[in-house]
Amino acid sequence: MTDIDCNALLERLWAYLDGEVEETEYRHLRAHIAHCLGCKHHADFEVRLRQIIQAKCRGERAPARLREELRRLLGNSL
Ligand SMILES: [Zn+2]
Repeated sequence: MTDIDCNALLERLWAYLDGEVEETEYRHLRAHIAHCLGCKHHADFEVRLRQIIQAKCRGERAPARLREELRRLLGNSL
């Protein structure tokens, strides 16, 4: 059983939130978020970001560039 570190988690965070990871990895990621305050903040932030994007794009997926741009703008305070 491999532990996930913060870098690995952040790389996989979008896939995790999209439900695009398999069950085992999902459980690892979820466990890490549950115990790591920094990653929990990131995850909460991404969830909020997705809600904003979904509200603006009516459920359509925003282009990756827009997501990165929003993340950079909103993430300055993190
Ligand atoms: Zn972490």
